[in-house]
Formats: sequence, C-alpha cells, structure tokens
Amino acid sequence: MSSVFHRTAHPIEAVAAEGCWVVDSGGRRYLDAAGGAIVCGIGHGRRQVALTMAAQVAAVDYVHAATFTTPVLESYATALAPHLPVSDSRVFPVAGGSEATETAVKLALAYQTARGKPHRTTIVSREVSYHGNTLAALDLSGRPTLRAPYEALLGRFVRIPGSLESPDAGWHAAQLESVIAERGDVAAFIGEPIGGASSGGALPPEGYWQALAEVCRRHGVLLIADEVMTGFGRTGAWFASDHYSLQPDVLTAGKGAASGYWPLGLCVASGEVADTIGAGSFVHGFTFSHHPIGAAVALAVLEIIESEGLVARAATSGDHLRVRLGEAGFGNVTGRGLLVGVEVGDAAAVTVACRERGLLVYPATASAILLGPPLTITDSEIDLIVERLPTP
Ligand code: PLP
Repeated sequence: MSSVFHRTAHPIEAVAAEGCWVVDSGGRRYLDAAGGAIVCGIGHGRRQVALTMAAQVAAVDYVHAATFTTPVLESYATALAPHLPVSDSRVFPVAGGSEATETAVKLALAYQTARGKPHRTTIVSREVSYHGNTLAALDLSGRPTLRAPYEALLGRFVRIPGSLESPDAGWHAAQLESVIAERGDVAAFIGEPIGGASSGGALPPEGYWQALAEVCRRHGVLLIADEVMTGFGRTGAWFASDHYSLQPDVLTAGKGAASGYWPLGLCVASGEVADTIGAGSFVHGFTFSHHPIGAAVALAVLEIIESEGLVARAATSGDHLRVRLGEAGFGNVTGRGLLVGVEVGDAAAVTVACRERGLLVYPATASAILLGPPLTITDSEIDLIVERLPTP
C-alpha cells in the first residue's frame, strides 16, 4: 500500500524519460505525444538543464523575493522580453499556471485601484475555458466536472457564453461590452488566444482578438492573455497572441516556460500596468515566487528553444502531423503548430486505448484529445503517433 495520495487509482511508475519517450518500471516505453499535460517543449532528459540547475543550487539556492533579486532572474527577464507580445514587460515568476492566473487577477484589481477605480473587481472570462484549479482560477474556468464539488466556493466572476469558435468575430466582443456596461465593475477580461483543454484547440475567427482588444481599450478594462498552454513556441509562434497581432496588458504562462523541469508560472505585466501600480506596491507574493533555480532552468529552456529553432520547428512539425492525421482518416483536426486537437469519439476511452499501445495523449473535451508532443519530435516519431492512434 502506497503512502502517496495519488491522483489516479493505478498510476504507472515512471523510471526514465528521454526525448519524446517515457519508460516505466517494467521497461515499457511510451511515446509522449502530449508532453505530459502539454508541458514538455524541449524534450525530456536534457543534460544541459540538469547541469544548469545544479550550478544554480551551488551559487544561490533560494532567497526570499521580499528582500532579494538574483542575477539569474534579471538575466532571464531580459532574455525573455524580446519574445513577449507585452510592451515594456515586467515578469512576476510564480510556481505554476494557476498561481499565474491568481496573480493576474490580483494585478487587475491593484491596477484599477491605483487609477482610482477600486470598485472594479469583476473579471470576465469565457464559458468554454480553463485558467487553473485554485479558487479564483477555477471560478474563471468553465469546466463543470472540476467546478461541481466546489460550487459553494465559486460564483464571484462572470463568464460569457460560448467558446472561441463563436458565430462571428465580434460576437464575444459585443457580449463583453454589454457585461461591462451593465455591471460597471469590470476590471479585466481573460482568455486563451487559442483554446486548450476545454475546447480541444479551438481557433478564433478572423478579427476576433482585434474586436475584443478594442472593447477592452475603450472601457479601460485590462486584457489578460492566458498563454499557459500556448506559450513558448507551442503553436508555431513564440506566443499564440503573435498570430493575431495581439498585445495583451497582462500575459500568463507556465507549462513550456520551464518545460516541466521546474514548477514555473509567469505573470507578465506591461510597463504601463506595473508602473501604475508602482514599484513595491503590489500586495502579493508566494514563498517560492521569483525562485532563482526556476529562473536558471527557464533561461536554459529559452536558450534551447532559440538555438534549436524550436518555434519554427513546431510550425512545420505541426503541419506534418496534420497531413498524416488527414491521411489516416481523422477528419476533424484543430489547433495550430504542435497544439493539435483531434475529434476521436470517446476521448476517455481512446486515451486508455492509446496508453495500452504505448502512446500518451491528453484527453480534452468528451470527444476530443489533444496532441502536444515535445517540439523536438522527429517526423518518424510523428508517423508513429498516427500509427498508434486507434483508427477513426
Ligand atoms: N491556464 C491554462 C490555459 C491551462 O491550460 C492550465 C493548465 O492546464 C492552467 C491555466 C493552469 O496551470 P497549472 O495546472 O500549472 O496550475
């Protein structure tokens, strides 16, 4: 009997991981077509990251961010800045995507308060969305099964109906504008630029983000782009916002930022947002925010993404995967780059069947799975994914 409080009744014991492969204690090899939970961008088992991490432990293992910064954190924020779609970016590192959402929510309230609008305390999201599993993040997320046991603790925020695949580009913008007008207390809107787990990689119609951004700007409402799943090259651009020339006021990231080597999330504010709140005036923080080892790992991951051209590679490998899926008879394939939603019928059953065939996929909606392998995946490994998927 295990003393671990597991997430699943029968977890597989992993003992090794390299590239796109995970090995269990029985020696069975699994092709990781989901990078865990669409996390692992640079592939498993990179020695360069292990060495960087060890060196940072030996230099400065931990200091509290209420007192210290570190050279490695400063270097990371500087190196990341040119890739971010956020103007004059200021990075607040945390320990995961949900913490990044919590930070963005508080940041929005702090910003509105600082500009004399403390009554603006509502965050608006979309019904079909996922922003995390802590309470504010879950309250923004339209995931009925995750919400159901905790509904008593939820209900503070507002979700507008529908998914990214709205009937026309201006539909959500019009919905948002009427919520803003009716309530008078909206601080921010949060959305995934390209849908993730809750919509199976849904893509917005042309002009969707321009329309939403225009409404936010007109009403002094912050636009938060949740790029926890889509950031760091996953969709064939550094950030999915880039596909739509979107410049959010706040951006959240996680997953691919440290590629799973360290639990890292990022909340990035524009200079205008950060300066309005004022240095040292944001009442927020966690024991492990601004962690030097997280920054060292993230810098090593960033350098690998840059030096190996993984953003462009995600675009071309994604095209290859889509072509192969089409040839195999999968008709309904969405997403962009190496974030690929596939309609499979019963997503839970297909996920189990795939695992039995040595293939790891990520169940998204009831009928769709997500594929999101490491961006380093080879064409022959992509062919193997399609070979191992149960035929439609
Ligand atoms: N936002 C999005 C878009 C996500 O996909 C996720 C996780 O899947 C989160 C937030 C929450 O991140 P985490 O699980 O690291 O807390």
